[in-house]
Amino acid sequence: MVDLHAFVCQMPKVELHVHLEGAIRPATLLQLAKRNRFALPAQDVEGLRDFYRFRDFAHFIEVYVTITRCLQTQDDYHLIAYEFGADCARQNVRYAEVTFSIFTNVTYANLPWQAIVDGLNAGRAQARTELGVDWRWVFDIVRDAPQTQEQVVEIALAAHDQGVVALGLGGSEKGFPPELFVQSFERARQGGLHSVPHAGEIAGPESIWNALRLLYAERIGHGVRCEDDPALVDYLRERQIPLEMCPTSNICLGVFPSYEAHPLRWLWDEGLFITVNSDDPPLFNTDLNHEYEVLVDHFGFTADELEQVSLNALRASFLPQAEKAQLETEFRAGFARLRETR
Ligand SMILES: [Zn+2]
Repeated sequence: MVDLHAFVCQMPKVELHVHLEGAIRPATLLQLAKRNRFALPAQDVEGLRDFYRFRDFAHFIEVYVTITRCLQTQDDYHLIAYEFGADCARQNVRYAEVTFSIFTNVTYANLPWQAIVDGLNAGRAQARTELGVDWRWVFDIVRDAPQTQEQVVEIALAAHDQGVVALGLGGSEKGFPPELFVQSFERARQGGLHSVPHAGEIAGPESIWNALRLLYAERIGHGVRCEDDPALVDYLRERQIPLEMCPTSNICLGVFPSYEAHPLRWLWDEGLFITVNSDDPPLFNTDLNHEYEVLVDHFGFTADELEQVSLNALRASFLPQAEKAQLETEFRAGFARLRETR
């Protein structure tokens, strides 16, 4: 297992389900709060960890708003994007698709969306040049604020040529089902954006069915609750619809009581298209390396299976075909080298 942990850290990876605001380093958040004179409910990293600990979904949303309120200037967005890239580089994450709640940020930072996107893309460009990692953006509608959905879509479409590849749907599933967002996803799709809603995390299989049928979801954020519906499991297997699984997030949010109760291994054995992701790394005291270690320690994944999970994420990404093929060649070479040294 120690051997496999080293393998996990060194292997090339792709991350498809991670929220930029939820990935900000705690030390950076403290520094930004101080600079922007925002009173955080914590004075140090230890205090932030306490604040982050999951109590209920309402508190989780409050944590998100608090984090967002620490961001005030274009430079702040540059910094958090660049540091995200540095965290990817540290874990050999070569490519990511990163969710960002653009309209929440426009609201709290009181900046035009273009200034925020410019800041984000400046950090992304710096990370690409200095560290050789790259990513694209998924701008998400926050379900709890359905009245903002048109603005989110408008911005996402306007920023389509600035690295935005998809429309997401996050926030509270309960009370805000896919039905409320049909027109927005239709508009985004017409404009060439992909569809990646969260579904089947807190709500049951019905939310996944509706994400597929009404929002034309190409990947499902989480989707773990499909286990309750055999017809849905069959459908997901037949169509090979990628599931963005985030096991530690599920445990922290109480979706399952333990890794042992989590259906990831079962769904994998059933032949579903599984990817593994970190969701909000510091909020759940995890990162992508750790999620892959969880596959080893709790789900019995072998080196071959870990490689397959990594390639799944690459194949499920929205990279243009040529870039995807190029990266797959590099990944295969990377895995071959790792095998030789084992
Ligand atoms: Zn998420």
